[in-house]
Parts: sequence; structure tokens; C-alpha cells
Amino acid sequence: MYPFTLIKVNDNAGAIAAKSKNTHSRFIGGGTNLVDLMKMNIEKPQQLVDITSLDLKKIETLPNGNLLIGALVKNSDLAYDTNVSSSYPVLSQALLAGASPQLRNMATTGGNLLQRTRCYYFYDTATPCNKREPGSGCSAIKGYNRIHAILGTSDHCIATHPSDMCVAMAALDAIIHVEGENGKRTIQFADFHTLPGDHPETDNTLKPDELITAVEIPALAFAVNSNYVKVRDRSSFDFALASAAVALDVTGGMIKEARIAFGGIGTKPWRSLKAEQSLKGKPISINSFKDAADIALEDATTYQYNSFKKELAKRTLISALKKTGGIS
Ligand code: SF4
Repeated sequence: MYPFTLIKVNDNAGAIAAKSKNTHSRFIGGGTNLVDLMKMNIEKPQQLVDITSLDLKKIETLPNGNLLIGALVKNSDLAYDTNVSSSYPVLSQALLAGASPQLRNMATTGGNLLQRTRCYYFYDTATPCNKREPGSGCSAIKGYNRIHAILGTSDHCIATHPSDMCVAMAALDAIIHVEGENGKRTIQFADFHTLPGDHPETDNTLKPDELITAVEIPALAFAVNSNYVKVRDRSSFDFALASAAVALDVTGGMIKEARIAFGGIGTKPWRSLKAEQSLKGKPISINSFKDAADIALEDATTYQYNSFKKELAKRTLISALKKTGGIS
């Protein structure tokens, strides 16, 4: 590991000032991804700014009914929060489907948003990787690409976004609160993570000096009727091959509104607005769900070793819709 300095800060302003002074610095909260990346010489910050003392550990209900989750709330605390598990079961289930209990006890809400891909080549510094070293090439496109993305890919990168929590947050239309040298701002979840395009080295729209302070989940009455289904190689601890976050608003067997997002198949947490739209006004039925799954995956591009993901993702979505719609 490269040598680095460690600074401990006690308030948001101090954290932002410390990071702004050194462009080669990173915030560290749980460190569950960053420390691995540093050990493997993929991330080489000169300075770490320890933000664990900041007052960002609360889960609050705002006057408008929205939920405000502090950026330093641990994944396990969020998953087991009684309001989250009863009002937004999809978020609780997604968190509990991610990583191991030990990692969930350390990992933070803000850090989870910033997880980097688990593409094998990204972690292998002996191979070309545009995300790690811009312009070097992509080893996965013609390589072993079984775990890679089929939606949102480019000629420069086909890596999947690894988070489970983010898939639920995409479905719930979360809002990310950030603070930087120019003050506070909010970012809609759909605008936070970026597609690889020509610049896969960039994962999100956060500015270098900005600190994530909270994630806001809008009140959504029908989110009580929501589920997260994840398919992976090992059930104990693994990243998704395909996952689906689903919420349904159903009256008299008819779907009034739907929320659908995928994990494990997109280069970012993948909300499918057109699949949601296709379910509006449709009856709860296998045929409605199959049609939505076909629509959701119609733009998929598969590669040599991951063509199975298209059908797997459809089946994962149908399974989540059946569970949420109460049919077998
Ligand atoms: Fe790198 Fe992306 Fe290609 Fe993986 S898919 S090797 S992360 S450029």
C-alpha cells in the first residue's frame, strides 16, 4: 500500500475544507471498498479524511413524510430500522442481500453509493482497463465477461454497478444531499450515477470537494408493497448476476402504478420507466409481468459469456412482480 496521511475532522465544513486543499484526498467512512482498492494499488490517495465523527448518523422522518438517512448510517442499522423495514421493505431487503453481516456493520449509506465495480480486470493492474486507467482499453469486452452488464454499456466499458442498496433507491426515486465549498445541493438518484460512455473512469456526478450528507427517500404509500429479489452464484455472500427491486400499487387486482429497477445487469442502478409504464392499468397476471420483462430487456446487448443474463433478468423481474402481486 502507498503511504498516505490521515486527518480526522469533526464537522462538515472541516471535512470539505480538508478535501479541497488536497485534490488527491478521499473521505473515509466505513472504508469497506476504499481500503481494498488501496491495498491493491487501484486507488492511491495521498490523504484520507476520516469523517466518522460527523453528525450524519440519524434516520429521521421529515415533516413532509419523507425519510432522511444520514450518510454515515450503517447498512445494517438502516436495514433493521423499523420504519424502513415496514414502510420500504424493498430497501431493507436489498441491504440485507448485500455483502456479509460484518461488512454491513461497517459499510455506510454514503459509501454504498460510491462503491466501485467488481469487474475482475478493474482489480487486476496487469490488464488494460479504461475505468482504472483511461485510454488503456477494456479487457472485458472480448474477455471473460460473464458478470458484466447488458444495459448501458459502451465500447469503452461494460462493467456492472455492484450495489444492491442503490437498486432499491433507484426504484424509490431517492434524492441525494451533498455539501461542498459552494454550499448545499441535491441530486436526483437517476442523475447521480453516470453511464460509462467515453469516460468510464467517472462513476458519478459528485464534484471533487463535495461530501454526501444524506439520502432522502420520498414518502410513497405503496412502497409497503415492495420486494427485492436477487440471483447470485453463492447465496451466502456474492454480487448480483441479476436483481430486481419492485413496488406495486394495486387496487381490485389492477395495477395503478409500478416501480421497477434492476441490479447486476446495468452499468448503473437501472430503473426501467418503460416497464413501469407498461404495467399501468394492467391486471395482476403472469402475462402482464412477462410483457413488462420483455419491454425492460428489449434494449439489452449481450456479450460472449453473459447472454444468459437477459433471460435471467426477465425471470428475476417476473419473480419479484409475482411475489409483490401476491400470485404464484
Ligand atoms: Fe475496465 Fe470497465 Fe472494461 Fe472492466 S468493463 S475492464 S472496468 S473498462
